[in-house]
Amino acid sequence: MTDAPAPKPGILDIAPYVGGKSSIVGIAEPMKLSSNENALGAGSRAREAFEAAVKNIHIYPDGRATKLRAAVSEHHGLEPERLIFGNGSDEVFALLNQAYLTAGDNIVTGQYGFLAYRISALGCEAQVKLAPEPGYKAEVDALLEQVDERTKIVYVSNPSNPTGSYNSGEEIRRLHEALPAHVLLVVDEAYAEFVTEADWETAFPLARDASNIVVTRTFSKIHGLGGLRIGFGYAPLAVAEAVDRIRLPFNVSVPGLDAATAALGDEAHQKASRDLVQTWRPRLTQAIRGFGFEVLPSAGNFVLVLFRDEKRNAAAASDYLNSKGIIVRPVGGYGIHDGLRITVGTEDQNRAVLDALSEFAAT
Ligand SMILES: *Cc1c(COP(=O)(O)O)cnc(C)c1O
Repeated sequence: MTDAPAPKPGILDIAPYVGGKSSIVGIAEPMKLSSNENALGAGSRAREAFEAAVKNIHIYPDGRATKLRAAVSEHHGLEPERLIFGNGSDEVFALLNQAYLTAGDNIVTGQYGFLAYRISALGCEAQVKLAPEPGYKAEVDALLEQVDERTKIVYVSNPSNPTGSYNSGEEIRRLHEALPAHVLLVVDEAYAEFVTEADWETAFPLARDASNIVVTRTFSKIHGLGGLRIGFGYAPLAVAEAVDRIRLPFNVSVPGLDAATAALGDEAHQKASRDLVQTWRPRLTQAIRGFGFEVLPSAGNFVLVLFRDEKRNAAAASDYLNSKGIIVRPVGGYGIHDGLRITVGTEDQNRAVLDALSEFAAT
Protein backbone atom coordinates (compact mmCIF):
# COMPACT_ATOMS: atom_id res chain seq x y z
CA MET A 1 0.00 0.00 0.00
CA THR A 2 1.33 3.40 -1.00
CA ASP A 3 0.04 6.87 -0.34
CA ALA A 4 2.24 8.65 -2.88
CA PRO A 5 0.47 10.90 -5.42
CA ALA A 6 -0.50 8.82 -8.46
CA PRO A 7 -0.70 10.23 -11.99
CA LYS A 8 -3.85 9.53 -14.02
CA PRO A 9 -4.14 6.06 -15.56
CA GLY A 10 -1.91 5.64 -18.59
CA ILE A 11 0.45 8.54 -17.89
CA LEU A 12 3.34 6.32 -16.80
CA ASP A 13 2.82 4.06 -19.84
CA ILE A 14 3.77 6.94 -22.15
CA ALA A 15 7.33 6.58 -23.40
CA PRO A 16 9.08 9.92 -22.77
CA TYR A 17 9.91 11.74 -26.01
CA VAL A 18 13.59 11.56 -26.85
CA GLY A 19 14.69 14.55 -28.91
CA GLY A 20 17.52 14.68 -31.40
CA LYS A 21 20.89 14.29 -29.69
CA SER A 22 22.86 17.54 -29.57
CA SER A 23 26.33 16.62 -28.32
CA ILE A 24 29.07 14.05 -28.80
CA VAL A 25 31.57 13.42 -26.01
CA GLY A 26 34.96 14.84 -26.99
CA ILE A 27 33.71 16.90 -29.95
CA ALA A 28 33.40 20.63 -29.30
CA GLU A 29 31.11 21.64 -32.16
CA PRO A 30 29.35 18.67 -33.69
CA MET A 31 27.24 19.02 -36.83
CA LYS A 32 23.69 18.63 -35.58
CA LEU A 33 21.63 17.09 -38.35
CA SER A 34 19.23 15.31 -36.02
CA SER A 35 16.21 17.59 -35.60
CA ASN A 36 15.38 19.00 -39.05
CA GLU A 37 16.43 22.47 -37.98
CA ASN A 38 17.16 25.12 -40.60
CA ALA A 39 20.80 24.74 -41.66
CA LEU A 40 20.99 28.48 -42.36
CA GLY A 41 19.71 29.39 -38.91
CA ALA A 42 17.21 32.20 -38.50
CA GLY A 43 17.12 35.03 -41.04
CA SER A 44 18.58 38.48 -40.36
CA ARG A 45 15.17 40.12 -40.02
CA ALA A 46 14.02 37.63 -37.38
CA ARG A 47 17.31 38.02 -35.49
CA GLU A 48 16.99 41.81 -35.48
CA ALA A 49 13.40 41.61 -34.24
CA PHE A 50 14.47 39.16 -31.53
CA GLU A 51 17.23 41.50 -30.38
CA ALA A 52 14.94 44.53 -30.43
CA ALA A 53 12.40 42.60 -28.33
CA VAL A 54 14.76 42.65 -25.37
CA LYS A 55 13.39 46.04 -24.30
CA ASN A 56 9.93 44.49 -23.90
CA ILE A 57 10.64 41.22 -22.17
CA HIS A 58 9.26 42.44 -18.85
CA ILE A 59 5.86 42.94 -20.53
CA TYR A 60 3.43 40.02 -20.90
CA PRO A 61 2.92 39.06 -24.53
CA ASP A 62 -0.22 39.95 -26.46
CA GLY A 63 -2.27 36.81 -25.84
CA ARG A 64 -4.19 37.33 -29.08
CA ALA A 65 -0.93 37.59 -31.07
CA THR A 66 -2.53 40.51 -32.91
CA LYS A 67 0.45 41.50 -35.07
CA LEU A 68 1.50 37.99 -35.98
CA ARG A 69 -2.14 37.10 -36.61
CA ALA A 70 -2.45 39.95 -39.10
CA ALA A 71 0.85 39.01 -40.77
CA VAL A 72 -0.07 35.32 -41.14
CA SER A 73 -3.54 36.21 -42.34
CA GLU A 74 -2.07 38.49 -45.00
CA HIS A 75 0.77 36.15 -46.01
CA HIS A 76 -1.41 33.06 -46.50
CA GLY A 77 -4.74 34.73 -47.30
CA LEU A 78 -6.49 33.27 -44.22
CA GLU A 79 -9.26 34.73 -42.06
CA PRO A 80 -7.50 36.06 -38.94
CA GLU A 81 -10.17 34.95 -36.46
CA ARG A 82 -9.72 31.33 -37.55
CA LEU A 83 -6.03 31.16 -36.51
CA ILE A 84 -4.78 29.42 -33.37
CA PHE A 85 -1.25 30.30 -32.21
CA GLY A 86 0.75 27.89 -30.11
CA ASN A 87 4.07 27.36 -28.40
CA GLY A 88 5.19 25.50 -31.50
CA SER A 89 2.66 23.56 -33.53
CA ASP A 90 3.19 20.84 -30.91
CA GLU A 91 1.10 22.95 -28.55
CA VAL A 92 -1.62 23.34 -31.18
CA PHE A 93 -1.87 19.51 -31.37
CA ALA A 94 -1.96 19.30 -27.58
CA LEU A 95 -4.70 21.96 -27.37
CA LEU A 96 -6.80 20.17 -29.97
CA ASN A 97 -6.36 16.88 -28.12
CA GLN A 98 -7.28 18.52 -24.83
CA ALA A 99 -10.34 20.20 -26.29
CA TYR A 100 -11.71 17.17 -28.14
CA LEU A 101 -10.57 13.98 -26.39
CA THR A 102 -11.99 12.36 -23.29
CA ALA A 103 -11.00 9.03 -21.77
CA GLY A 104 -11.78 6.19 -24.15
CA ASP A 105 -11.82 8.35 -27.28
CA ASN A 106 -9.13 7.79 -29.88
CA ILE A 107 -6.99 9.51 -32.45
CA VAL A 108 -5.97 7.87 -35.71
CA THR A 109 -2.67 8.45 -37.44
CA GLY A 110 -0.22 6.54 -39.60
CA GLN A 111 2.12 3.91 -38.24
CA TYR A 112 5.01 6.36 -38.59
CA GLY A 113 2.96 9.42 -37.67
CA PHE A 114 4.74 12.17 -35.73
CA LEU A 115 5.11 11.20 -32.05
CA ALA A 116 3.96 14.61 -30.77
CA TYR A 117 0.34 13.83 -31.75
CA ARG A 118 0.34 10.72 -29.61
CA ILE A 119 1.90 11.99 -26.40
CA SER A 120 -0.78 14.49 -25.48
CA ALA A 121 -3.55 12.18 -26.73
CA LEU A 122 -2.36 9.53 -24.28
CA GLY A 123 -2.25 12.27 -21.65
CA CYS A 124 -6.00 12.72 -22.27
CA GLU A 125 -6.51 8.98 -21.57
CA ALA A 126 -7.33 8.50 -25.24
CA GLN A 127 -6.20 5.61 -27.40
CA VAL A 128 -3.90 5.95 -30.38
CA LYS A 129 -4.86 3.86 -33.41
CA LEU A 130 -2.15 3.43 -35.99
CA ALA A 131 -2.82 2.67 -39.65
CA PRO A 132 -0.18 0.50 -41.35
CA GLU A 133 2.21 2.28 -43.72
CA PRO A 134 3.74 -0.59 -45.66
CA GLY A 135 5.24 1.83 -48.18
CA TYR A 136 6.39 4.31 -45.48
CA LYS A 137 3.49 6.50 -46.52
CA ALA A 138 0.09 7.21 -44.95
CA GLU A 139 -2.63 5.36 -46.89
CA VAL A 140 -6.12 6.86 -47.06
CA ASP A 141 -7.96 3.54 -46.89
CA ALA A 142 -5.84 2.23 -44.04
CA LEU A 143 -6.50 5.41 -42.04
CA LEU A 144 -10.24 5.20 -42.72
CA GLU A 145 -10.27 1.58 -41.62
CA GLN A 146 -9.06 2.63 -38.15
CA VAL A 147 -11.80 5.23 -37.71
CA ASP A 148 -14.60 4.15 -35.35
CA GLU A 149 -17.34 5.84 -33.33
CA ARG A 150 -14.84 6.91 -30.65
CA THR A 151 -12.45 8.55 -33.13
CA LYS A 152 -12.26 12.30 -32.58
CA ILE A 153 -9.17 13.33 -34.55
CA VAL A 154 -7.25 11.99 -37.55
CA TYR A 155 -3.71 13.34 -37.86
CA VAL A 156 -1.78 13.36 -41.13
CA SER A 157 1.57 15.05 -41.51
CA ASN A 158 2.02 16.16 -45.06
CA PRO A 159 4.88 15.89 -45.81
CA SER A 160 5.53 13.31 -43.16
CA ASN A 161 8.29 13.13 -40.57
CA PRO A 162 10.30 10.87 -40.23
CA THR A 163 9.59 9.13 -43.55
CA GLY A 164 9.60 12.17 -45.87
CA SER A 165 6.61 10.84 -47.79
CA TYR A 166 3.62 12.98 -48.71
CA ASN A 167 -0.01 12.66 -49.71
CA SER A 168 -1.36 14.28 -52.85
CA GLY A 169 -4.07 16.92 -52.72
CA GLU A 170 -6.36 14.30 -54.24
CA GLU A 171 -5.65 11.86 -51.40
CA ILE A 172 -6.28 14.47 -48.69
CA ARG A 173 -9.60 15.40 -50.34
CA ARG A 174 -10.62 11.75 -50.54
CA LEU A 175 -9.72 11.21 -46.87
CA HIS A 176 -11.71 14.24 -45.81
CA GLU A 177 -14.72 13.28 -47.92
CA ALA A 178 -14.88 9.81 -46.41
CA LEU A 179 -14.54 10.93 -42.78
CA PRO A 180 -17.64 11.28 -40.62
CA ALA A 181 -18.40 14.98 -40.07
CA HIS A 182 -17.75 14.78 -36.32
CA VAL A 183 -14.12 13.71 -36.84
CA LEU A 184 -11.53 16.47 -36.98
CA LEU A 185 -8.89 16.07 -39.71
CA VAL A 186 -5.58 17.72 -38.76
CA VAL A 187 -3.21 18.21 -41.67
CA ASP A 188 0.24 19.07 -40.33
CA GLU A 189 2.12 20.98 -43.02
CA ALA A 190 5.35 21.69 -41.08
CA TYR A 191 7.44 20.97 -44.19
CA ALA A 192 5.13 22.55 -46.79
CA GLU A 193 7.70 25.02 -48.09
CA PHE A 194 10.18 22.31 -49.09
CA VAL A 195 7.83 20.33 -51.34
CA THR A 196 8.47 20.29 -55.08
CA GLU A 197 6.05 17.54 -56.16
CA ALA A 198 3.37 18.88 -58.50
CA ASP A 199 0.50 16.82 -57.06
CA TRP A 200 1.07 18.04 -53.48
CA GLU A 201 -1.36 20.78 -52.41
CA THR A 202 -1.74 22.77 -49.24
CA ALA A 203 -4.99 21.94 -47.48
CA PHE A 204 -5.74 25.63 -46.74
CA PRO A 205 -8.33 25.93 -49.56
CA LEU A 206 -9.98 22.64 -48.58
CA ALA A 207 -10.09 23.79 -44.95
CA ARG A 208 -11.69 27.10 -45.86
CA ASP A 209 -15.09 25.55 -46.55
CA ALA A 210 -14.88 22.60 -44.16
CA SER A 211 -16.22 22.45 -40.62
CA ASN A 212 -13.75 19.75 -39.53
CA ILE A 213 -10.26 20.49 -40.92
CA VAL A 214 -7.33 22.11 -39.12
CA VAL A 215 -4.15 22.86 -41.09
CA THR A 216 -1.02 23.53 -39.04
CA ARG A 217 2.21 25.30 -39.94
CA THR A 218 5.34 26.12 -37.96
CA PHE A 219 8.07 28.73 -37.72
CA SER A 220 10.54 26.02 -36.69
CA LYS A 221 11.59 24.76 -40.12
CA ILE A 222 11.62 27.13 -43.12
CA HIS A 223 11.96 30.17 -40.82
CA GLY A 224 14.64 28.64 -38.59
CA LEU A 225 12.96 29.61 -35.30
CA GLY A 226 12.69 26.21 -33.61
CA GLY A 227 14.14 27.63 -30.40
CA LEU A 228 11.42 30.27 -30.13
CA ARG A 229 8.46 27.86 -30.35
CA ILE A 230 5.86 29.39 -32.64
CA GLY A 231 3.33 27.48 -34.70
CA PHE A 232 -0.24 28.00 -35.77
CA GLY A 233 -3.37 26.23 -36.92
CA TYR A 234 -6.00 27.38 -39.41
CA ALA A 235 -9.25 26.00 -38.02
CA PRO A 236 -12.99 26.31 -38.40
CA LEU A 237 -14.10 29.27 -36.28
CA ALA A 238 -15.94 26.98 -33.82
CA VAL A 239 -12.75 24.94 -33.28
CA ALA A 240 -10.62 28.06 -32.82
CA GLU A 241 -13.12 29.37 -30.27
CA ALA A 242 -13.20 26.06 -28.39
CA VAL A 243 -9.40 25.93 -28.21
CA ASP A 244 -9.25 29.54 -27.05
CA ARG A 245 -11.11 28.56 -23.89
CA ILE A 246 -8.35 26.23 -22.70
CA ARG A 247 -5.35 28.02 -24.19
CA LEU A 248 -3.27 29.54 -21.40
CA PRO A 249 -3.40 33.34 -21.63
CA PHE A 250 0.26 33.92 -22.54
CA ASN A 251 1.27 30.79 -24.43
CA VAL A 252 3.57 32.48 -26.94
CA SER A 253 6.47 34.73 -25.92
CA VAL A 254 7.24 38.36 -26.77
CA PRO A 255 10.50 37.62 -28.69
CA GLY A 256 8.85 34.67 -30.42
CA LEU A 257 5.93 36.75 -31.68
CA ASP A 258 8.19 39.56 -32.90
CA ALA A 259 10.73 37.28 -34.59
CA ALA A 260 8.02 35.22 -36.30
CA THR A 261 6.30 38.34 -37.60
CA ALA A 262 9.60 39.58 -39.03
CA ALA A 263 10.47 36.15 -40.47
CA LEU A 264 7.27 36.06 -42.45
CA GLY A 265 8.39 39.16 -44.34
CA ASP A 266 11.89 37.82 -44.99
CA GLU A 267 11.32 36.33 -48.43
CA ALA A 268 15.06 36.21 -49.13
CA HIS A 269 15.74 33.93 -46.18
CA GLN A 270 12.80 31.70 -47.00
CA LYS A 271 14.04 31.37 -50.57
CA ALA A 272 17.62 30.64 -49.52
CA SER A 273 16.37 27.98 -47.08
CA ARG A 274 14.16 26.37 -49.70
CA ASP A 275 16.87 26.51 -52.38
CA LEU A 276 19.43 24.86 -50.11
CA VAL A 277 17.09 21.93 -49.44
CA GLN A 278 15.92 21.64 -53.01
CA THR A 279 19.52 21.57 -54.25
CA TRP A 280 20.95 19.16 -51.69
CA ARG A 281 18.06 16.78 -51.04
CA PRO A 282 18.36 15.12 -54.48
CA ARG A 283 22.17 15.17 -54.30
CA LEU A 284 22.22 13.47 -50.91
CA THR A 285 19.59 10.98 -52.05
CA GLN A 286 21.46 10.01 -55.22
CA ALA A 287 24.89 9.87 -53.62
CA ILE A 288 23.81 7.81 -50.60
CA ARG A 289 21.97 5.39 -52.88
CA GLY A 290 25.23 5.16 -54.81
CA PHE A 291 26.93 3.89 -51.64
CA GLY A 292 24.45 1.01 -51.58
CA PHE A 293 22.01 2.26 -48.94
CA GLU A 294 18.28 2.74 -49.42
CA VAL A 295 17.06 6.34 -49.30
CA LEU A 296 13.34 7.02 -49.23
CA PRO A 297 12.13 9.81 -51.52
CA SER A 298 11.65 12.89 -49.32
CA ALA A 299 9.52 16.01 -49.60
CA GLY A 300 10.97 17.52 -46.39
CA ASN A 301 14.29 19.07 -45.34
CA PHE A 302 15.69 15.64 -44.44
CA VAL A 303 16.16 12.18 -45.85
CA LEU A 304 15.47 8.82 -44.24
CA VAL A 305 18.23 6.32 -44.98
CA LEU A 306 17.58 2.60 -44.44
CA PHE A 307 20.54 0.41 -43.55
CA ARG A 308 19.40 -3.11 -44.43
CA ASP A 309 22.79 -4.73 -44.02
CA GLU A 310 23.31 -6.75 -40.83
CA LYS A 311 26.81 -5.48 -40.29
CA ARG A 312 26.50 -2.00 -41.76
CA ASN A 313 23.31 -1.36 -39.78
CA ALA A 314 21.77 1.91 -38.59
CA ALA A 315 23.42 1.81 -35.16
CA ALA A 316 26.85 1.22 -36.70
CA ALA A 317 26.26 4.01 -39.22
CA SER A 318 25.17 6.39 -36.46
CA ASP A 319 28.29 5.54 -34.42
CA TYR A 320 30.48 6.05 -37.47
CA LEU A 321 28.92 9.44 -38.23
CA ASN A 322 29.28 10.42 -34.55
CA SER A 323 32.98 9.57 -34.73
CA LYS A 324 33.21 12.14 -37.54
CA GLY A 325 31.39 14.74 -35.44
CA ILE A 326 28.04 14.32 -37.19
CA ILE A 327 24.81 13.74 -35.25
CA VAL A 328 21.88 12.20 -37.10
CA ARG A 329 18.61 10.79 -35.82
CA PRO A 330 17.98 7.11 -35.12
CA VAL A 331 14.25 6.50 -35.58
CA GLY A 332 13.79 3.32 -33.55
CA GLY A 333 11.22 5.28 -31.52
CA TYR A 334 9.01 5.04 -34.61
CA GLY A 335 9.74 1.33 -35.01
CA ILE A 336 12.12 1.98 -37.91
CA HIS A 337 15.14 0.26 -36.41
CA ASP A 338 17.15 0.21 -39.63
CA GLY A 339 16.63 3.92 -40.31
CA LEU A 340 18.58 7.11 -39.74
CA ARG A 341 17.01 10.46 -40.47
CA ILE A 342 19.50 13.02 -41.73
CA THR A 343 18.63 16.72 -41.93
CA VAL A 344 19.80 18.53 -45.06
CA GLY A 345 22.66 20.72 -43.84
CA THR A 346 24.87 23.42 -45.28
CA GLU A 347 27.02 22.49 -48.26
CA ASP A 348 30.01 21.72 -46.00
CA GLN A 349 27.90 19.62 -43.67
CA ASN A 350 26.35 17.67 -46.53
CA ARG A 351 29.78 16.96 -48.00
CA ALA A 352 30.97 15.75 -44.60
CA VAL A 353 27.96 13.39 -44.39
CA LEU A 354 28.67 12.03 -47.85
CA ASP A 355 32.37 11.53 -47.10
CA ALA A 356 31.56 9.72 -43.87
CA LEU A 357 28.88 7.48 -45.38
CA SER A 358 31.10 6.61 -48.32
CA GLU A 359 33.84 5.56 -45.88
CA PHE A 360 31.31 3.67 -43.76
CA ALA A 361 30.10 1.77 -46.84
CA ALA A 362 33.67 0.61 -47.40
CA THR A 363 34.17 -0.65 -43.81
C1 LIG B 1 9.14 19.78 -36.78
C2 LIG B 1 7.74 19.32 -36.90
C3 LIG B 1 6.69 20.12 -36.45
C4 LIG B 1 6.94 21.45 -35.83
O1 LIG B 1 6.81 21.41 -34.48
P1 LIG B 1 6.93 22.78 -33.65
O2 LIG B 1 6.32 22.41 -32.35
O3 LIG B 1 6.14 23.80 -34.40
O4 LIG B 1 8.37 23.11 -33.57
C5 LIG B 1 5.40 19.68 -36.63
N1 LIG B 1 5.15 18.50 -37.23
C6 LIG B 1 6.12 17.72 -37.68
C7 LIG B 1 5.76 16.46 -38.37
C8 LIG B 1 7.45 18.10 -37.52
O5 LIG B 1 8.42 17.29 -37.94
